[in-house]
Amino acid sequence: MLIFQTRWQNWKKLMPELPEVETIRCALLSKLKGKVIIKASVKNGSRLLRDTVSAATLKKKLIKQRIKDIKRRGKYLILEFSSGDFLVVHLGMTGVIYTIDNDQASPTHTHLRAEFKGFSLVLSDPRTFGRLFYVKKDGLNNLPALNKLGPEPLEKEFTRQIFRENLKNRKAPIKAVLLDQKAVSGLGNIYCDEALFRSAIHPLKKACDLSVHEIKKLHQEVRAVLKESIACQGCTIRDYQWDQGKSGGFAKKLRIYGKEDKTCLTCHSKILRSTVAGRSTFYCPNCQK
Ligand SMILES: [Zn+2]
Repeated sequence: MLIFQTRWQNWKKLMPELPEVETIRCALLSKLKGKVIIKASVKNGSRLLRDTVSAATLKKKLIKQRIKDIKRRGKYLILEFSSGDFLVVHLGMTGVIYTIDNDQASPTHTHLRAEFKGFSLVLSDPRTFGRLFYVKKDGLNNLPALNKLGPEPLEKEFTRQIFRENLKNRKAPIKAVLLDQKAVSGLGNIYCDEALFRSAIHPLKKACDLSVHEIKKLHQEVRAVLKESIACQGCTIRDYQWDQGKSGGFAKKLRIYGKEDKTCLTCHSKILRSTVAGRSTFYCPNCQK
């Protein structure tokens, strides 16, 4: 089992964010592209389906589908089949998706197992905050879960102007606004804290009160921290495997997240922990205003 390398003890609450999902996407794509699902099993009454489709129907729909591509939108993985249909996966807090040999038993809490020639794809999620949607051809734009997401931070659509527009009427703390995925998609607890620290912005500052300069800096740092993490294949999180036995290296490069009572790298003040939008939030009271 892989362990998130930090002394912070609440690591169980960590969940995959954009860089981790992107890492999983690349690993799965190289393995699954062009492969056909021979057999499938879906856990009866799986909470991941939230009654959008029955387990029996989903199973039937998956059999004989060929994986054409795997895309990502925010923290969602989108498996595209040659038929034009899609399987959309969100890993929630504790979801993991990876391949095992066909003669291996499914891990506990498996909600979906798709068997290909030579290996099986399994999706396991103990706490069931994840989601699983089957989407018909051309239906992706009508999926509410994807519709309400803000721009992709690493795409051209995420301009400084759009970011400013998305923040200007938001009176909530900037950290809460970043977490809710509407101003920009893909950020969770780790990368919000890292981007705010690098931008010298206090996580409790109202989004609408950010100056033009702060928005410019935050826009730049959101993109920078995500790109750096993707280059390191994300952070390694307990229960999160993007490929069996391999782990991401970005945890070692975190500057603020999980560093309560440690010294700020910039000013040597003590790093504090607070709660914003129900989530642990780490910041330097001296650097972040
Ligand atoms: Zn500091």
